[in-house]
Amino acid sequence: MSYVDFRRVWLAYNEQLWKQGKFAVEDISLTLKKGEFAAIVGPSGCGKSTFMKLATGLKKPSRGEIHVDGQPVDGPLKISGMAFQAASLLPWRTTLANVMLPLEIVEPHRSQLRARRAEYEARARELLASVGLAGYEDKFPWQLSGGMQQRASICRALIHEPQLLLLDEPFGALDAFTREELWCALRDLQAAKGFNVILVTHDLRESVFLADTVYVMSKSPGRILHRREIELPRP
Ligand code: ADP
Ligand code: ADP
Repeated sequence: MSYVDFRRVWLAYNEQLWKQGKFAVEDISLTLKKGEFAAIVGPSGCGKSTFMKLATGLKKPSRGEIHVDGQPVDGPLKISGMAFQAASLLPWRTTLANVMLPLEIVEPHRSQLRARRAEYEARARELLASVGLAGYEDKFPWQLSGGMQQRASICRALIHEPQLLLLDEPFGALDAFTREELWCALRDLQAAKGFNVILVTHDLRESVFLADTVYVMSKSPGRILHRREIELPRP
């Protein structure tokens, strides 16, 4: 059974563009099995960000349907976590407090938050340790390198144990060595926890290294050109 299911999805950003036949994405069909790691690759302007907005429920398809876990997506998805190119940690919060931030949004009642604080904190510490940030819990973002901030932002995306992790070029701004380290950390985490990942990137090498399935998009119109299953021995 598929976990994420795009069924012939089209999107034009407004009515006029729709009438002119100017679509940001065209006829996208794609399915992810439970636990699958998919990458969407393509040049800038091919519709990757648009795809992400659709997958998160921030945009509705002009035509076609999107289902996640058997449910039609009609509004922002609560079961997903997201990380972007910029780590965007809150500068006045420590690493640990940044990672725990989504819990305050999911659990708005202070009494419940207090009751579950220990459990959440343990989870945050475990995640930070798994990406090599043990010992940095009480540092502030300015005390961390760019790569370390990006690690923390991935932990923040995973803190509420999402079933679907959506990554929009989260490694783009890193140097090659830090990037590879982070790729390995992400793969280990995913192997351990079994969540689905959709990664949007323009780096073909990255997609092949990380994903089970790579979808290659063409520039205008934003269509899927190829689907490739990657069968490399995983380290
Ligand atoms: P990518 O993320 O791959 O660079 P985008 O999804 O941002 O691509 O863009 C896909 C297409 O949709 C492009 O032709 C772009 O100009 C257009 N587009 C993106 N955002 C908007 C918008 N808010 N309004 C109108 N057109 C848009
Ligand atoms: P990155 O490529 O991760 O942005 P840098 O080149 O800035 O990293 O730093 C390389 C390594 O130096 C980091 O992975 C980390 O181990 C260490 N480092 C960087 N900044 C700090 C810091 N503020 N405190 C402790 N160690 C740091």
